[in-house]
Amino acid sequence: MAQPKGLLPSLVERLRRWLGHPGLSVPPEIPDPLWNKTLAGLPCLHDLGQGERQGLRQLSARFLADKEFHGAQGLVISDAIALSIAAQACLPLLHLGADGLDWYDDFVGIVVHPDEVLAPREAVDAAGVLHRWQEPLIGEAMAGGPVMLAWSRVKGGRQATTQGHNLVIHEFAHKFDLRGKPASAAADGCPPLPADFMGLGRMAAQQRWQQAWSTAYQRFGEQLALSERFGEPAPWLDAYAAEAPAEFFACSCEAYWVARARYAREFPELAPLLDAFFRRPPR
Ligand SMILES: [Zn+2]
Repeated sequence: MAQPKGLLPSLVERLRRWLGHPGLSVPPEIPDPLWNKTLAGLPCLHDLGQGERQGLRQLSARFLADKEFHGAQGLVISDAIALSIAAQACLPLLHLGADGLDWYDDFVGIVVHPDEVLAPREAVDAAGVLHRWQEPLIGEAMAGGPVMLAWSRVKGGRQATTQGHNLVIHEFAHKFDLRGKPASAAADGCPPLPADFMGLGRMAAQQRWQQAWSTAYQRFGEQLALSERFGEPAPWLDAYAAEAPAEFFACSCEAYWVARARYAREFPELAPLLDAFFRRPPR
């Protein structure tokens, strides 16, 4: 929840109050100066058309009303921080219609740390030995749980956009992936596909999706291995994508949303699938 600054309630507080009063049909507006500053600070939004910007603004207001932000380690959640995260999280929802926000309805909390955090991890190896270590985390999304983000890594500039990086979209892509899966299941890069996906029946659509993604994932891993072992050019996309099919999907979604033209050149077989999944109209 945003900390109130001075006597005036923050934008996030006003939006949450509006949500508690169904009689008020029009949500509080995101003030022009705050919205314009948010757009200016996010290069990934600079190519949006006027209608898309308006749609994103409305989605962001609704998102801010629905979600609860928590600042960790002393970080105070300002309206600017909350709106920056909201706008990036809502970008993939832009063409999904009135119920697009349903993709994010399995959680309320968004925990924002100032910087990366060290998460304790443990695992038992094949010999039965327990290993404990600390893993640096800049973001995390779990089924039915909050999304964690490191604010220092959310503030991606133009360079991050050119490279196809966007931490917020990455973590929220995991939410797409996890939707409809049991709480115990892990993300696997296969989100539920909309009915009539690419004009295919349900089974054919799933087959098309899985075949294209597994082929591309394998090829990406091979290209990455060649670059690491033999100095060949590294493939364009975060190397973290090679960790697992779920990470390949999440890294693809961030690259697709912030640098679609480059993504489509690098992954021509996957871009049409993401176009269809996110119902993004041809430009
Ligand atoms: Zn991830």
